[in-house]
Amino acid sequence: MIAKVEPLLTTRSVSGPFDYRVPESMGQVGIGSVLVVPFGRRRVVGVVVDLADRSDLPEARLAEPVEALEAGVPPELVELGRWVGEEYCSTPARGLGLVLPPGIGTGADARRVRPLVELEVEATEEGIAATAGGGRLGLRQRAVLRALAAGPKLARQLAATAGSDRATLRRLEARGLITTREVERRRHHRSPAVGAVRDGIELTGDQRRALGAIAAGGHRELLLHGVTGSGKTEVYLEAARTALDRGRGAIVLVPEIALTPQTMDRFRRRFGDSVALLHSRMPAGARYDEWRRVRSGEARICVGPRSAVFAPVRDPGLIVIDEENDSSYKQESDPRYDAREVARRRATEAGAVLLCGTATPRPESWHQLERLELPSRVDGRRLPPVEVVDMRGGVPGPLHQRTREAFAEVAAAGGKAILLINRRGWSTHLTCRSCGHAWECPDCDVSLILHRDGALRCHHCGHAEPKPESCPECSSVTIARVGAGTQKVEAELSELLAPLEIFRLDSDSAAGGRHADVLSRFERASTGVLVGTQMVAKGHDFPDVTLSVILDADGALRLPNFRSEERTFALITQLAGRSGRGEAGGRVLVQALATGAPSIRHAARHDAAGFLADELDRRRALRYPPFSHLIEVALSSENEERAESAAGRMRELIAERLGADQDLLGPAPLFRVRGRHRRRLLLKSEQRREAVEAVRESVAEAVSGRLLRDVAISVDVDPQ
Ligand code: ADP
Ligand code: ZN
Ligand code: ZN
Repeated sequence: MIAKVEPLLTTRSVSGPFDYRVPESMGQVGIGSVLVVPFGRRRVVGVVVDLADRSDLPEARLAEPVEALEAGVPPELVELGRWVGEEYCSTPARGLGLVLPPGIGTGADARRVRPLVELEVEATEEGIAATAGGGRLGLRQRAVLRALAAGPKLARQLAATAGSDRATLRRLEARGLITTREVERRRHHRSPAVGAVRDGIELTGDQRRALGAIAAGGHRELLLHGVTGSGKTEVYLEAARTALDRGRGAIVLVPEIALTPQTMDRFRRRFGDSVALLHSRMPAGARYDEWRRVRSGEARICVGPRSAVFAPVRDPGLIVIDEENDSSYKQESDPRYDAREVARRRATEAGAVLLCGTATPRPESWHQLERLELPSRVDGRRLPPVEVVDMRGGVPGPLHQRTREAFAEVAAAGGKAILLINRRGWSTHLTCRSCGHAWECPDCDVSLILHRDGALRCHHCGHAEPKPESCPECSSVTIARVGAGTQKVEAELSELLAPLEIFRLDSDSAAGGRHADVLSRFERASTGVLVGTQMVAKGHDFPDVTLSVILDADGALRLPNFRSEERTFALITQLAGRSGRGEAGGRVLVQALATGAPSIRHAARHDAAGFLADELDRRRALRYPPFSHLIEVALSSENEERAESAAGRMRELIAERLGADQDLLGPAPLFRVRGRHRRRLLLKSEQRREAVEAVRESVAEAVSGRLLRDVAISVDVDPQ
């Protein structure tokens, strides 16, 4: 038999598949088998993408695989991985890398995760009798048999409690007093899920209607639109139940596990061990075991972040995307896939329901998906009033007087508040008051951010230098600190509200996965303010928060990105959803300069439909998605001329292949990062397939023709 194997090399210049001769002795090899194969003088991991009876090459010249690994990939995922490689202008190997069992190093010498096998020991009847009777037993032997009186134990446990070693066990086994067998032990990441509990919730009329549409069967693409607290998660749970009842599986994608532990826990409580969790922060062993539980069908529901879209769930009948507007569904390294599009493809292939839930739908989803509405909160509470605070006209410091008063009221009442400011650090620029000199990163074209510890840091490359005492240009010692970050606001609030406790949550305070810590301390506290970047707007429920504040709400609108309005609307709405969920009600303050921006106006009225109608009009007029498809090609080099000329050449290659109704913009310069000069081409097209193909072929030609010397290229289809 001939196996067509795609070697998992990351380089763009090699692309398979290549033929290998599979000997009879190798056992079961099929599509999706993961093999170690000789490749040139190396050994590499590869995936079987097809089988054949014979090869075009003479059999004698074909090499044989070195070994087949235990776990293989389901054939439909092999197809999906290859599709991702093509659709996102990456390579088949990189696409297939996404669907592999976890813990497979791609080099042959990489350490590989295997099932954890242990020795289980059980006493035979003679063994139990021997402890009672006066049979000749050594001290250790007797201790082992006593320990086994209550039931089988692992050899490891016996070693710890009865001091046994392998020799003792071997002797006992030889005398027929014990039996041993190898058992596979599952590695748990969290405490194992216990029992399946139904919460005994009766669905509301809106929830029942939504569920009816979901359960109608067949492939459908649905948008479940409802504010936070409207009962969306309850609908996901019941929809998953329906899939299971029909003998099918379910995949549930969540933005980020660390920020959404509650969703995960609800699935575990409802479905017990039928739920598997897959994400990259789990230890490799536990992740591998979970993957195999899903692969074998033991677990029928898989919950995880974007990569879980590749979970080997058998016959999925439902794919849920919770918070479908969350930007974490896009992978920001090659292959730059969008899990929402991959989910859509997978749902189509499997005849499954795609269910996208959110309070703030993307314009694309609003336009393309069938809508299900959950118009009100389950608890019947109104959404909190939103007040837009105008920061024009020289407000001193980051907090407006109205905002300070609102915080003071919360502090006086002993309540809780949340403040969002989407910048970390102390202040965002330093400038010399005498000559205007600005402190920038030596390797990136961005300003350095002052941190509380006295360092100036670059948030793009990690460069750090001490805070200056004087200006290097004019020696003046008057240096202005402009723009407040989380640390500055934390300090201001500490002073204003002392002794109220301030909890800060940003990627500095949450380094090493400590988000959950900060969040649960805030949750347990009876009063306090949670200050942080957009992490504070996601996931968690804090029923006793009565005030939510967002600073510089229109900050994103000053950036040239067509998604700025959408993001601003989502951020304000999410934050508003965090407040006033308990008895005491709540209010929201939005500080901004551009108070009339559509995203801010509509968010202040909780009017998603109005916002989306306006935004879709704007997108239509400018031919932005969903009315076109965007592909970004970025080229970078330490040498500016090379970046420039490679970009020019790429433009020509792509233009040669394009039809008439497509726009190709650039090359435009992007700011320098880590000493690399960057150029960008942007393709805007109504013909997705043609556009993707043109870019893919152009990249392939540039790579094989060695046109990209010292230049890195990256392609982003559907950039965020
Ligand atoms: P969302 O996902 O839209 O934020 P949830 O499903 O988390 O909403 O529901 C919000 C709260 O209301 C949760 O505590 C949930 O258990 C509860 N809930 C949801 N649906 C019902 C229902 N039909 N009856 C009673 N409580 C419900
Ligand atoms: Zn100066
Ligand atoms: Zn830098």
